[in-house]
Parts: sequence; C-alpha cells; structure tokens
Amino acid sequence: MLAVFSCSSESNGEGDVIADTEPPTTPSGLEAENITQKSLYLYWDSAVDNVKVKNYSLYQDNKFLVGSGKASYFLENLIPGTEYTYQVLATDAAGNSSELSSPLNVSTMDPLEAELQYDSGNLEDYLGNLLDMVPGISANKYKVPTETDLKQWDLIIDAILDEDITEAVNQAVYLNYQIVEFTDIYSTPNQVYYILKEYDIRLNYWGTYVFSKTPKRKDLVLAAPHVLHDQKTGQQAAYTFRRNVGKALFLSGAHRCDTDESSSCDGTTTSCSTQYAPYRISDVPHNTNSAFQKTTENLFEALPNSVFVQLHGFGKESTDPYVIISNGTNKTPDKDYVVMIRDALLEEDNTLTFKIPHIDINWTRYAALDNTQGRYINGSSDPCSVPATATSGRFIHIEQERSKLRENETGWLKISNALGKVF
Ligand SMILES: [Zn+2]
Repeated sequence: MLAVFSCSSESNGEGDVIADTEPPTTPSGLEAENITQKSLYLYWDSAVDNVKVKNYSLYQDNKFLVGSGKASYFLENLIPGTEYTYQVLATDAAGNSSELSSPLNVSTMDPLEAELQYDSGNLEDYLGNLLDMVPGISANKYKVPTETDLKQWDLIIDAILDEDITEAVNQAVYLNYQIVEFTDIYSTPNQVYYILKEYDIRLNYWGTYVFSKTPKRKDLVLAAPHVLHDQKTGQQAAYTFRRNVGKALFLSGAHRCDTDESSSCDGTTTSCSTQYAPYRISDVPHNTNSAFQKTTENLFEALPNSVFVQLHGFGKESTDPYVIISNGTNKTPDKDYVVMIRDALLEEDNTLTFKIPHIDINWTRYAALDNTQGRYINGSSDPCSVPATATSGRFIHIEQERSKLRENETGWLKISNALGKVF
C-alpha cells in the first residue's frame, strides 16, 4: 500500500515514488462571449492543482465534447437558435479529475431571417456608418471565401442583376448577408437603392455593394477597394455615386492589411510593411479569390457597356503628379475614358497635374498593371498571375493625391462632376 506524504509525485528523496491522488479544483467562472448564429467562445477560470492541471474536458449537453489545454475554447458549427448546456472539468497529469463545473446555459443567435430590410435617409450617411465599422490593419477579421462561398455569392449577384430581389435576399442569408431597400429621401427625386450588406454581427467582412434601382448613369460602376488605407476614398465614392446615381458601388469591408496572410496573386507593396512584400489576402483588388472580384466579373459580363472606376489614394512625392489615371495596361483603347476623365477634371481644376501610363509610356508608378479586376476587365487569361496584353478601356484606376480631390467635399465634387460629364 502506498501512502501519500507530499503534494508531489516526484521521488520523496528516500527512493519511494509517491502517487498524486489529489484532483484539481473544480473550474469556475464558466462564461460565453462572441455568440453568433453558429459559434461562441467559452472561457473559465483556471483550476488549481497540487501539481499541475494538464487538460480541461468540455461537456456539451452532458456529453464529453472536446479536450482543451487552455482555459478557453472556440466552438463552431453550432445550430442557430439553439440552447446548449456547457460544463467543464479539470484533469491533472496523474489522471485525477475534478468535479464538473456548474452548468452554463447559452443560446446561439436565432437563424437569420431571409427578409428584405427597409431603411431610409441619406445614402451617404448610411454608407458612412458602415465605413466607420470597417476593421483596421492586422485585425485579422477578413474571412477567405471558399469555392462554395463564391458560388453562393454568384447566385446573389446574378439575382440582383435579374432584378429578382426576393431571390437575392434568400440566397444572401446563407452568407450572412442581407439586402436593404434604401430610399434616399434627401435626393430629388427620391432614389431607391438595394444595399447588399453583411448582418450587424459580421463574420466575413467582404464589403458592401449598392445597386441603384433606377440608375441615371447606367454604365458607371464605382469602387473603393482600399477604404481606410486610401483615406476618404470610401466616403468620396459614396458621395460621387449618390450624386451621379451610378449603376453600382462597391466598398471593401476590411482594411487591405487586415490579414497577415499573403495573397497568391502577382505583385508587392509597402502598404502593410516597411519592405516590399506580397499583397495580403484581404487586399481585394489584388486577389481573384474574393467577393469583390466576383461581383466585378458578374457585372462586367452582364452589362456590356459598363465601366469600372476605382478610386484610390497615394502619398504624393515631389516628382509625382496630383493624379495618375490608368486603364490597367499601357495600351490605348478605342474609347479612351481615361483621357475624357482627365479633360473633365482639368475643367474642374486647372491646377491638377496628371500622368497616364498609356500616354506617358515611361511612367510606371501606380500604373495598376497587377490589379486583378483590371486584368479581368482587360481580358487576361488568368488575372491573378497573367498581365493583360490588350485593353477593353472599361477599367479606370484613379490614384489621387490627398489635398486636391480626396480630402473633403470640395475635392469630391470635382471627381463627381467630371465623372458625371463623362458618363
Ligand atoms: Zn489603393
């Protein structure tokens, strides 16, 4: 028979091994947070053991679910709108287990309702609130879409393009998205928009997509793919879209440097680090595997005269012009929107200076030759890794110095007027 003399299973110094038969204390303070429709985060106060707690066992509805080395666990693939009961016990290295903790009852969020939402006000304010919620650099919120996700996204966008909003709403719910029929009561006449946005509890951060019910400029698709990083471009795009009642507006849902993971597509940037480094996977104009890219592709195919204008911002160096406008290649298209936009901007502000890669052929800075939306629109066989060798002229990449066009409404009005003249 073995007697227990000490709190240790080490040798007692006289050659006898003392078994540890003392269990850890029962874990307490079990709590849940970040509760969504399908996931939640459980954590509890660490148990105490005479030697060391080795492991925690998590029980769901009185059945063992999983072990955890830490005093926390992230649960996924739960059923929406369901109550679960959790308990946890601690085990030490010798296999002594504590009692089960007191139970915690927690319900996942109710399943999303596939119902068209209604709202009204000023579109710019509405979108401004969404832009304010975009997470910043290294937040690691952006979810990489799976192939299945993008097939589902395709159904949503195609339904919107078919003006079957009910179908779009029904498909959107599977990706945690909803559609808001938004009436801008401050526009004369009032304008109605369909806003494809993520539910308030966000899981994906794939951005916000706005479609005019009755566009005035049917060929104009505006995009701000670098909201937050290219400061004010999201607000500028919303302002310009609203004043022109374009066909569609895309706003990215995460900072381009949100994820630490790299995109596999061509190109490098110093946007997220001091050295040149690959684009991040959350950098939607540099990653074909994104809802942003998919939306671009669907609209481009469905709307034969559509033109995709991306608003960007850069830090001007002394030798740089105020504006760099590119069609995504250094080729000259049949219909040269870049030149038309430049001329219209000069009418708004004759102090602006420009570089245009297909005209200033030695100019390479911010030429956007690796932009994956640009490459697609210009007919690349593989926009992730193959530059376009010709141009359709339907992709316009506008890089703007901050003070003249991007800083405030005075500048936004110039862009808005210029695009209004061209489209
Ligand atoms: Zn940019």
